[in-house]
Amino acid sequence: MSKVRTRFAPSPTGYLHIGGLRTALYGYLYAKNNGGDFILRIEDTDTARYVDGSVQIIYDTMRDSGVMYDEGPDVGGNYGPYVQSERKDIYTEYAKKLVDKGGAYYCFCTPERISTLKDSDGNMKYDKHCLNLSQAEIEENIKNGVPYVIRQNIPKEGTGSYHDLVYGEISVDYKDIEDGILIKSDGMPTYNFANVIDDHLMGITHVIRGTEYLSSTPKYNLMYDAFGWERPTYIHLPPIMKDATHKLSKRNGDASYEDFVNKGYVKEAIVNYIALLGWSPKSNVEKMSLSELEKAFSLEGINKSPSIFDETKMKWLSGEYIKAMTNEEFVEKADVFLRQSKIYGKYDLNKIAELLKPRIEIFSEIPDKINFLEEFGEFSPELYYHKKMKTDVEIAKIVLPKAREVLANLDEFNFQTIHDALIDLVAKLGMKNGQVFWCVRVAISAKESTAGGVMEIAELLGKEETLNRLDFSINLLK
Ligand code: GLU
Repeated sequence: MSKVRTRFAPSPTGYLHIGGLRTALYGYLYAKNNGGDFILRIEDTDTARYVDGSVQIIYDTMRDSGVMYDEGPDVGGNYGPYVQSERKDIYTEYAKKLVDKGGAYYCFCTPERISTLKDSDGNMKYDKHCLNLSQAEIEENIKNGVPYVIRQNIPKEGTGSYHDLVYGEISVDYKDIEDGILIKSDGMPTYNFANVIDDHLMGITHVIRGTEYLSSTPKYNLMYDAFGWERPTYIHLPPIMKDATHKLSKRNGDASYEDFVNKGYVKEAIVNYIALLGWSPKSNVEKMSLSELEKAFSLEGINKSPSIFDETKMKWLSGEYIKAMTNEEFVEKADVFLRQSKIYGKYDLNKIAELLKPRIEIFSEIPDKINFLEEFGEFSPELYYHKKMKTDVEIAKIVLPKAREVLANLDEFNFQTIHDALIDLVAKLGMKNGQVFWCVRVAISAKESTAGGVMEIAELLGKEETLNRLDFSINLLK
């Protein structure tokens, strides 16, 4: 068996959307699972759809997500160039070879003639007119500079069949396939030609791509056969849906990897979730790091049916990754979001991490959870009212001055000492825990709900700030 070689072949037409990254990821995982190589090839022959900057987005996203290629435009390799626009001469050479073999032919038809071939729906099936030109006519036209394209010569009858590893036996009648253009009049190849030439020359053993290519694969196979090349193994991936009827697509503006990172999702969770969009692991474990995925991935686990992109589930997974982080990791990865709260240099980041880790799923929830640290001021006495806790303003008026007193007496001001002092107070006042805890927490945060209970918050604020805030809130009730 030759070494497994897979490739990701994006067109630089904008963001790297979730579906694209999934295709890349599966190619990467299959290669790594088999000790093979994963290649990045940029398919930029459709100049009209080219979007400036998108090649860089592809490089950055793949590096950042860890779906890293062994060969590619910016890392090199023995099968380059890895950008199609730099391979123009190669395609011309092979197109001529294919013409010689009868698999393709020159077509000099004018756009006017082509337009007469369209049916009432605007569909066109080329009538093989130029297939009948003599060698002399062809040479004469080329000599005179008549513009031409090179078309694939699809048999008039018969069926093209192949076995797809996910979808099984696929057959398409040749009569339903058009003699499509392989080389355009500007000398650029179409995708339909370039993908075959490149996959062969780059030694690709397994072609992994979306189901939109299922039915065009027979025409690619005709070229492999005409050249006498071995066909690759085909693995077509099910579509990713936004809901039951709509595909997730970059044209509809559905989010890219980058968007989710900016929204505060843990990167590893995005990759982990994307791996599950169309593939099921043998075990029931769903949380898997990239290296665990590399070991677990298998083609048998790829599903035929479309998968629905469930952001809630990805969020849950992101939360699982956050819970599993050490405090140091958390502070490092959440940096951008922590900085939005201007807490640096003022609070113990270790404690902030402890407070936040069990309480958020994505980093963008951070500012809202900890803004009470920086924002404090007048609030409605209504906040003291909580039916289940049996508290209200009257209870607060009793609790707060006493709480201030016992907390002021503490030499050591930490979770445990605060806890013990307040529990003591509960007993002395003959109240319930909730009555004391709720009132003090509201009084020092000015918020109905906070990340963390009264002990965590008071410890974070420190003794001085806690007492200042209690004074403020006691005054507010007068
Ligand atoms: N450039 C094609 C695309 O972006 C690649 C398809 C393939 O993997 O062959 O859809």
